[in-house]
Amino acid sequence: MAEVSEIRGIQGLLGFIDACPTPFHVVDRVAEVLRSSGFAELDEADEWPDASGSRFARRGGSLVAWQHQTCEKGFRIIGAHTDSPNLRITAQPDTAQAGYRQLGVEVYGGALLNSWLDRDLGVAGRLATPAGQRLFRIDRPVLRVPQLAIHLDRDVSKEGLLLNPQVHMVPVWGLGLRTPGEFASVVAEAAGVDADEVLAWDAMLHDLTPSTVAGIDGDFIHAPRIDNQVSCWAGLQALIDAPADSPPSAVLCLFDHEEVGSTSAQGAASTLLPTVLERIAGSRGALHPALARSLCVSADGAHATHPNYPERHEPDHHIAMGDGPVIKRNANQRYATDAVGEAAFAAACEKAGVGHQIYAHRGDMPCGSTIGPFAAAATGVTTVDAGVAQLSMHSAREMCGAQDPLDFALALSAFLSGPA
Ligand code: ZN
Repeated sequence: MAEVSEIRGIQGLLGFIDACPTPFHVVDRVAEVLRSSGFAELDEADEWPDASGSRFARRGGSLVAWQHQTCEKGFRIIGAHTDSPNLRITAQPDTAQAGYRQLGVEVYGGALLNSWLDRDLGVAGRLATPAGQRLFRIDRPVLRVPQLAIHLDRDVSKEGLLLNPQVHMVPVWGLGLRTPGEFASVVAEAAGVDADEVLAWDAMLHDLTPSTVAGIDGDFIHAPRIDNQVSCWAGLQALIDAPADSPPSAVLCLFDHEEVGSTSAQGAASTLLPTVLERIAGSRGALHPALARSLCVSADGAHATHPNYPERHEPDHHIAMGDGPVIKRNANQRYATDAVGEAAFAAACEKAGVGHQIYAHRGDMPCGSTIGPFAAAATGVTTVDAGVAQLSMHSAREMCGAQDPLDFALALSAFLSGPA
């Protein structure tokens, strides 16, 4: 069973990311660490006569955990997301073309498709079986999406790489003819069940290159899924380190489906957070005044200023790796941060002894979004969007500073401990 000591420090972060190729593995890993830290799991299908103490509940690829004694000072909530853009296996994946056995995939979220080419890819996810869900992972290079040779694509350097997700992203995994049922039997073996027990799957590809500290002075981390497993990792430590007996109550909410808009049974726009908070509070009468006294940090990756594309950034909001957590502002509420939230999180950074930076998107480009506005709309809680500066967002292999995740964890810890 994973313990919190195993996830601490930069090596702990790298190990956490490598242990979590899918949202289901994130939730499973987080649940293990919480259990070993004294948190007890509650089932949403049961009555919760008393949800105080250190508890957590799971819904699919999402999880809510909390330390609660009283609603007197409201909740301090950290939200993050467990999913990352990738390639997902279709329901009837076994196919073949030109003498290669291949697997049908769908692009999940806003993936940088070029980053999935010519990589050693494994496959992981969960299986639905008659006995319930079963996680599996295959960490051998069983799949590859081969790029077209430059001799057959002479215009690629002038005109850019155009990739059709239906046609050009289909990975190969062997030679020969289409073999119906092959994928099911391979994942059944990986999960240790019989092939006829595999009823359905949520399966996706992952790059096998291990996460690493990088750069000539070790300034960087190169890893998959930095967006947003760095925030899940930092939030988990902050919750475990939160004082168990003193208000405000500390809540960690890790949502699936952020990369596809958060509207699902367990996404940030779902009933998950509001209903769990109501059950923690014990009644609506206790919940509503507690929400009015609460604050939320929506923790998600931020864009560092790119050295090769400085013109893509707002010139007066330079964001540097190594300069601490980034608070994200957007007048059009693509980020939920307002002045009150910004001030509260800046105070938490100061209390933690780390710096902070403020991000603004260029006015002539559409801004991305995150879980913050959804969580804020669902709960009515003042919310600040903040996170770690990174490059290569939505690539199969992203990068961030080596110090920033540690500083972000300290800032989240200070935030959970209440007003400065
Ligand atoms: Zn994100």
